[in-house]
Amino acid sequence: MRRLRSVIGSLAITRSVVAYVFDSMTDHSLPSLPPRLRRPFHADPTRHALAHSTFALGSVERLDHPTRQRALGCLVGGAVGDALGAPFEFQPSGLYSETFPSPVHGGIGEMIGGGTFGWAPGEFTDDTQMALALACSVVESFGYDADHVWGSWRTWRRRASDVGITTSHALSFDDWREVEHQRIESTMANGALMRSFPLALATISLDDDIARDVVLHQASLTHHHPAAGWGAWIAVSAMRESIRGGDPWSTIDREVSLVPDELREEFSSVLSPTWTPAHDNRSNGNVWTCLGQAVWAVRQSTTYEEAVVAAIDLGGDTDTVACVAGALAGAIHGIQRIPSRWTTYLHGHVELATGRRTFTHADLLVLGHELLGLSLPDQAPGESPAGPMHVGDGVHAANLLGAATVPTHWGVVSLCRTEDFFGAHEARRQIYVVDKEGDRNAALDIAVCDAVRSIEAFRREGRPVVVHCHGGRSRTGLALKAWRMARTGCSERDAHIWLKERWPLYADYNRTFVDYLRQARFD
Ligand SMILES: [Mg+2]
Repeated sequence: MRRLRSVIGSLAITRSVVAYVFDSMTDHSLPSLPPRLRRPFHADPTRHALAHSTFALGSVERLDHPTRQRALGCLVGGAVGDALGAPFEFQPSGLYSETFPSPVHGGIGEMIGGGTFGWAPGEFTDDTQMALALACSVVESFGYDADHVWGSWRTWRRRASDVGITTSHALSFDDWREVEHQRIESTMANGALMRSFPLALATISLDDDIARDVVLHQASLTHHHPAAGWGAWIAVSAMRESIRGGDPWSTIDREVSLVPDELREEFSSVLSPTWTPAHDNRSNGNVWTCLGQAVWAVRQSTTYEEAVVAAIDLGGDTDTVACVAGALAGAIHGIQRIPSRWTTYLHGHVELATGRRTFTHADLLVLGHELLGLSLPDQAPGESPAGPMHVGDGVHAANLLGAATVPTHWGVVSLCRTEDFFGAHEARRQIYVVDKEGDRNAALDIAVCDAVRSIEAFRREGRPVVVHCHGGRSRTGLALKAWRMARTGCSERDAHIWLKERWPLYADYNRTFVDYLRQARFD
C-alpha cells in the first residue's frame, strides 16, 4: 500500500502564499487586474515554496465503502464524460440528443468515437490524458512535485494528438519557472480545470487550505490567469465534498467567497443557481463558461447520465465540459450509477516517462485506489472453466474462464474484473458489483438493472449471451435471477428454484443480494 512518508508539515502553504502564487502573471497588459496581479511569475521566489508537497494519500480508516465508490465515480466519471463528448467537440448544441434520441442499450452503446481527432470508440482525450499524467505523478511522488508533474506533461505532449494552445505554449519551456505568456488573457482558458479532477481523490484527506494550494499551484504551471486556477479549485472542492457525502453547492458558495475580489463577481455569476447557459454566449473554452456550464448540467440533473448528456448537448468544447460535469456527477452518484455501456469501452493512451501506457476502465479503478492510498485487492486465482451453460432463452451462465471461451459475436455481461479476455467481443458490459454483504454496493439496484437491461438488449440483437462472474456463483446468480424475475414477474424464491435446476455453481450465500431481490420490482 502506498503510504506517505510525512504529512505536509513544513510546507509553507498559507493563505498569504496562495495569494502570492496568483500574483503570477507576466507584465503584459491585463487592465482589469490591479498591479499586484501583474508581477512576473517566474521572478517570484515565494511561489517556489509550493512546488513540492508531500501529503498523505487517502486514509483506509476514514474512507467507508460508499465514499470510495463516489471517489471512483469521480475519476471514471470524468473520463467517461470526456470520451462520450469527444465526437461532438466543436459541434453545435443539441447534436448528441439528435444522434441518440433515446439511450442505446445494445451494441457498443453511444461510445461511437470519431470527432475532429478521430478518437476510437470509448477513447478519452487530452483532458483525461493530462489528468492521468498528473495522477500518476502524484502517486509516484507521494504527493505533488511541480518539477515531476512538469516533466510528465512535457513527456505526454510529445505524442499527444490534441494539446490546447495555452498548455502547448507553456509546455514548450523546459522549466515551469521560466514560462512567459504573451497574453495573460489567453490563459483564462479551461485547460487547467479539465485536468484537475484526480486531485479530488488525492487530496480527499487533506484540509481545504492545503488541497486548495496544490490545485491552484498545478493550474498556475500552464495557466497564469488566476481565474483558471480558481475555476479548477472550485470544481475540485465541489468534487471533494461530494465524495465525502456532503453538499457540493454550499461548498461552491463558500469557495467563491474566497476568490480574489477582482474575480469574484464573475464566478458568483456563472455559479449562481439561477444561471443557465442561455445567459452567456461566450465560448466554453474559457474557464468561466466551462465551469458554469458543467455545474449547471449537474445541478439540473438527477442522474449521472442526465448530467453528462446535458453537458454534451451544449456543444462547443463538449469533451471538456462533459469531463468536468462527469467528474462532479460521478462524485455525487458513485461508480455504480455510471452506465456500464459507457464505462466498459473507456480507454486511452498516455505517454509517460516509462513509455506509452494504456489505461482501461479497470486500470482507472486501480489508479483510483492508489490515489486514495488504497490497494485494490487481488482477484482470486482463476478456477477451472465452467460453462457456458444454457439457462434459457439464449442466456448462459459461466465462470470467468468458462465465459472466456465464448465466440466473439456473443454478448458478454461481466460482473467481475475480466483482465483482457473480452477485448475482441464487441458487445460486452463490465458491471461494478462487489460480492460482499452490507454497504459494499452503494447502488446495487442500479447495477442489477444495468445487467438485466444489457442481457435483454443483447438478446434483442439476436446474440447468445453469457452472464458470468469470477467463480460463476453469487454475482452470476444475482444477475440471472434478476433477469428471470424481470422476464416472468416471478418471485426471488421461484427464480432461485429455476436457477438451481439449471446452473450447478449457483450459490446464494450473499444475504444482501437475496434481500435486495426479495423487495425488487422490475417493470
Ligand atoms: Mg479534449
